[in-house]
Amino acid sequence: MTAQLIDGKALSQKLRQEVSGRVKALKAGGIVPGLAVILVGEDPASQVYVRNKVRACEETGMYSVLEKWPDTLTEAELLARVQELNEDKNIHGILVQLPLPRQIDATKVIESIAPEKDVDGFHVASAGALMTGLPGFWPCTPYGCMKMLEHIGYDLKGKHAVVIGRSNIVGKPVAMMLLQQNATVTICHSATKNLKDMTLQADVIVAAVGKRKLLTADMVKPGAVVLDVGMNRTEEGKLCGDVDFDGVKEVAGWITPVPGGVGPMTITMLMVNTCESAERSAGQR
Ligand code: NAP
Repeated sequence: MTAQLIDGKALSQKLRQEVSGRVKALKAGGIVPGLAVILVGEDPASQVYVRNKVRACEETGMYSVLEKWPDTLTEAELLARVQELNEDKNIHGILVQLPLPRQIDATKVIESIAPEKDVDGFHVASAGALMTGLPGFWPCTPYGCMKMLEHIGYDLKGKHAVVIGRSNIVGKPVAMMLLQQNATVTICHSATKNLKDMTLQADVIVAAVGKRKLLTADMVKPGAVVLDVGMNRTEEGKLCGDVDFDGVKEVAGWITPVPGGVGPMTITMLMVNTCESAERSAGQR
């Protein structure tokens, strides 16, 4: 292996310790950062995600409320609950776990969250803030990618970053963040012709597609930084990313593994955002 590993687990631990310190300081001033997590229905994957989020709050000393609602909950009922949480002084972050049942319009619900409590960074106000460089909450997964680049001391100025995927939660926001750091950014998607021609020019590649072995060694410039956001399963049911790790690690300069790479960073950045929201409400930021 020639590439250096970017260990998302270790970095997460370090960042969570920093958050714990900030939480302690807030508590000393009488403020307990609080996150409300809303789960509607019984989706097994969502249940695991929300449990991990609540656990991360406990680990960092934050207050959390996990609300589980039946999948018969109406849109009006959910909107009313979000409104109550918007007004609740003990809650600094509101997270509605997606997907939502069919009768509920997810966009409407996300837009009903007060932007100052939108710690997932999915509200249009948060997206607009990122686009214009104003303060707001960055979506957690792309924010985690940027933290990883910062951690390895990577200077993006003048570098060519190629993002594969253009979703609102990963591809587009990470492209904006890379641009903000003065990288030249190319965004690829399912209609992109000759993906390999693009990736071969890249100093940094962010793969956020959801397809196993989408990025292979022959598509990577020697020494490039490769961040693998993808979460897929092998035929044996093992978690894997979009990158053919075994091949690409022989060419890249830096690489994130799956599992243990970008994945753990997502919840960690949720903790960072929630803590920051509490600091903002206390006028500390
Ligand atoms: P998504 O909404 O399905 O978007 C996938 C993107 O990939 C789309 O923009 C699509 O293009 C593009 N695409 C599809 N096939 C392609 C191809 N052959 N070549 C180039 N681009 C292609 O997915 P997402 O929500 O962004 O998530 C992407 C992956 O990241 C998934 O595996 C997901 O599970 C994972 N993920 C991980 C975390 C984490 O915490 N680690 C968080 C979020 C997501 P079009 O726009 O043209 O359709």
